Amino acid sequence: MLPGNMMDRPLTVPSILDFAAEIHGDARVISARVEGDVHRYSYKDAHKRVSRLAHALRALGIGDGDRVATLAWNGYRHFELYYAISGIGAVCHTINPRLFEDQILYIVHHAEDRVLFLETSFLPLVEKLADRLPPDLRFVVMCAAGDLPETGLNVLAYEDLLAGQPDTIIWPDLDERQASGLCYTSGTTGNPKGVLYSHRSTLIHTMGLLAVGQSIGLSPERSLLPVVPLFHVNAWGLPFAAPLVGTDFVLPGTRLDGPGLFAFMDQEKVNTSWGVPTVWFGLLAEMRKHGRKPNGFDCVLIGGSAAPKPMIEEFERDFGVTVVHGWGMSEMSPVGSVGVFYARQRALPEEERMHLKTAQGRRMFGVEFKIADGEGTRLPHDGVAFGELHVRGPAIMSAYFNDEAATDGAFDDEGWLKTGDVARIDPNGFLFLVDRTKDVIKSGGEWISSIDLESAALAHPDVAECAVIAVPHPKWVERPLLITVLEDGSRLTAGEMQDFLGGKVAKWWLPDDVVFVDELPHTATGKLSKMTLREKFRDYRLPGV
Ligand code: ADP
Repeated sequence: MLPGNMMDRPLTVPSILDFAAEIHGDARVISARVEGDVHRYSYKDAHKRVSRLAHALRALGIGDGDRVATLAWNGYRHFELYYAISGIGAVCHTINPRLFEDQILYIVHHAEDRVLFLETSFLPLVEKLADRLPPDLRFVVMCAAGDLPETGLNVLAYEDLLAGQPDTIIWPDLDERQASGLCYTSGTTGNPKGVLYSHRSTLIHTMGLLAVGQSIGLSPERSLLPVVPLFHVNAWGLPFAAPLVGTDFVLPGTRLDGPGLFAFMDQEKVNTSWGVPTVWFGLLAEMRKHGRKPNGFDCVLIGGSAAPKPMIEEFERDFGVTVVHGWGMSEMSPVGSVGVFYARQRALPEEERMHLKTAQGRRMFGVEFKIADGEGTRLPHDGVAFGELHVRGPAIMSAYFNDEAATDGAFDDEGWLKTGDVARIDPNGFLFLVDRTKDVIKSGGEWISSIDLESAALAHPDVAECAVIAVPHPKWVERPLLITVLEDGSRLTAGEMQDFLGGKVAKWWLPDDVVFVDELPHTATGKLSKMTLREKFRDYRLPGV
């Protein structure tokens, strides 16, 4: 090998904020605070506070490789923690507060966290768990000393920590392969599993996003609001991508329901927002109520679960908001594909264009795809063959953190990560997710996509939310059951729903029964919890069985 003669400078997370402070110094971070008001500052100001925080962390004895946990909403202090912790070589471990208490306890112990930064609203939770947390864990409440609530815990106040620290810093020499962040997946079965990101993987993922940046709202002189939480998989990479490109970063705090989000987006003239479909159901309801979209809103990125076709149509046709559909997973930093459209796709006849929007997009630079059948044989990307999607790339996990049991079985013989998703890929590279391997309905040896059935049912105006799961059947092994939440006042019957679906899906796909419920269970990341539903309807007897 003839080595290239280029400098071997490491790719590091703090270099992003250094760049933003110097080049996009005036672009802003705007946060709805837990305290109730709105906080505004520039990336240049953020850099100063990050420097102070980094010095303060060192003063607490935090150093290379130490894990520092956060329990926090989307706000400027959480953003500061991302950079200060990883900047000094420690690891920013974001904890999802919506996990079960036992899961939170498990991950704090498993990660061996040294300090926990928490928002005031999570103090009651931490007080409740305190006896079972590691005895030497330190607590910092993310507020000013004057705002510290009464507590029996021994806590420090975030703003006290920063006081008196220098507002410049020379970052230590970091190895780009060292860990920078840690996030546990909710884990539908067993304990949560940790994904340990590196500086290098984070930078490569960020640059992958920026390669399609303009189409997904990542460009200067625009503003972007992540509804996707900073406490889960790095808010899909936005805390890194937004400052690098100089987008205003608008953080909604706890204003996450439809009315709260609408008002905040409207007030701050947010151009782009990213989040899971559940959130958009709420926002769309509010947009319908107002008969308009929030001021300035023109692009929405939907991921985390399949974006239903009626949702895409409503955003685009009724409100003029361009939908970009994306797919990824925690193990992939997390974005794997985005539905960026160029002239050729935009010019397609309307129905075809909409159909293509339901695809989960095309792979991002740095992510390779292959689909394989049950024996691991590669299948063609012809838009017809489908099998389990396997992925490979420099921002994709190579093992779970300190968890051999979970790592075993996560990869195929060639070292690709098995995603657990069943997909087709068309010759232009568009990924169509058929289902999760766990959720697909195996009826008489053929597969029925729960995602496609849900999307068809959602097209009915009376359906507010729905889920399709497999229930046991003596002849066909499994058959689909549709579980539906109706809009207020609707009196739709099971028979009418089945008739509605009749013309939309193959006859043998039709759900054998339709059940109406008041609400559906969701996971800690806002997705439908089909595991809970499967458990609940385990003994469900289909009509005639
Ligand atoms: P968690 O449930 O812990 O948040 P992830 O965020 O890693 O886990 O979830 C990844 C999974 O979410 C994917 O493997 C896929 O099944 C599903 N998913 C993500 N985006 C989409 C999408 N656009 N359409 C359908 N499924 C999606």
